[in-house]
Amino acid sequence: MDAEYDVVVVGAGPGGSTAARYAAMGGAKTLLIEKRQEIGTHVRCGEGLARGLLDQAKIPIDKVWISAEMDGARIISPGGFSFDVDEAKAGNEVGYVIERDLFDRALAKLAGEAGADIEVKTSATEIIKENGKIVGLKLICKGEPVTVKTKIIIGADGYESQVGRWAGIDTTIQPSDIMTCVQYRLTNIELDPKYTEFYAGSIAPGGYIWVFPKNDNTANVGIGLGAHIVKHGGEPKEYLDRWIANNPKMRNAKQLDMVAGGCSINAPLDSVVCDQVMLVGDAARMIDPMTGGGIAHACLSGMEAGKVAADAIKKGDYSKEFFQTYEKAWRGELEEKLFRNWMAKEKAQHLSDETFDKLISLLAKVGLDNISVINILKAIKEYHPELVKEFEDLL
Ligand SMILES: Cc1cc2nc3c(=O)[nH]c(=O)nc-3n(C[C@H](O)[C@H](O)[C@H](O)COP(=O)(O)OP(=O)(O)OC[C@H]3O[C@@H](n4cnc5c(N)ncnc54)[C@H](O)[C@@H]3O)c2cc1C
Repeated sequence: MDAEYDVVVVGAGPGGSTAARYAAMGGAKTLLIEKRQEIGTHVRCGEGLARGLLDQAKIPIDKVWISAEMDGARIISPGGFSFDVDEAKAGNEVGYVIERDLFDRALAKLAGEAGADIEVKTSATEIIKENGKIVGLKLICKGEPVTVKTKIIIGADGYESQVGRWAGIDTTIQPSDIMTCVQYRLTNIELDPKYTEFYAGSIAPGGYIWVFPKNDNTANVGIGLGAHIVKHGGEPKEYLDRWIANNPKMRNAKQLDMVAGGCSINAPLDSVVCDQVMLVGDAARMIDPMTGGGIAHACLSGMEAGKVAADAIKKGDYSKEFFQTYEKAWRGELEEKLFRNWMAKEKAQHLSDETFDKLISLLAKVGLDNISVINILKAIKEYHPELVKEFEDLL
């Protein structure tokens, strides 16, 4: 690691590695740091990834990190009605279940190949300012305190991001915009290996249960509950254990691992930049509030932030005003969808099991040609206008 960089990217998840890749490709002297000693380890993820978003974020597909290719997604109501979203209807929304550790490492490799320096086991601990201007970062690199000078910091440090807080960007969100998750890798279960499954209703208040197949008898089986509904830390696990115990297909299930974590499911933030700092991915709270998917959004925002950082270095302007180009780029791609899906999530959190049954059987019956949250809302409007009253502006 050198003593001085144009751009330091904090966090080597999908957002950080993609940001570092594009900053380096644009000619900026770039450092990517990761606090863990191995990029991609301790996977806290269902590992579902839509194909279209990969194209959008210009991530080359590599068989190495594909665990299983899906034909579609299945949404299942409490009463057992189901609705399939397959490739014919959802196109590129259908995708893969990936090997997240290998995926993250592949993205870091692309950053390194583009010329970014990479330091693992290196945590950012503080922003250094002189006369109100950022001049660098304090790091703990392999146990040793070091400082590194930089002009721009890209905060890609995930859901528990500190870079945003240190820089004074308001990333606080309400408990109702947080999902508390627990996931098992289960083997020896019966499943449809070609469909990701989402189970809605009172089995997972304010959220859902997912089954994402890794192969013919193994899947990531997880639950996300609205944090405002959870009464104690162990509750998501209790809900998931109860659902598994009552599911005949999981009668002989064996656990291979367990992970827990939170994720944001909020409406887009007002601002994710300030002078010399841009936030990407989970640090910028860009997870899709309906699906919980955040990998591709992290890559997409990382790409845009990396490009803008390189441009800012060329022009010698690292101001909040200059970074509006980044704000425009990511908002152009994601803002409308994130906002609409946040509204849909707000509504879905309060639906009864009977209403879920009604809606999902309706969607199965009307057979949409093209599936998206907007088309689903339009179909609901036709038959149950009372359920989408608040969405009028968006339809
Ligand atoms: C249980 C669960 C299941 C999920 N399932 C899916 C799914 O199926 N599909 C999907 O698309 N999304 C899913 N998500 C969301 C997805 O994991 C995130 O949206 C995605 O990881 C965001 O990428 P990122 O690069 O922004 O952040 P992260 O992947 O969180 O990366 C941040 C990195 O920063 C590092 N870091 C943090 N602080 C510092 C520091 N101070 N110094 C140096 N490094 C630091 C961390 O170690 C980490 O490696 C899930 C989330 C959870 C919790």
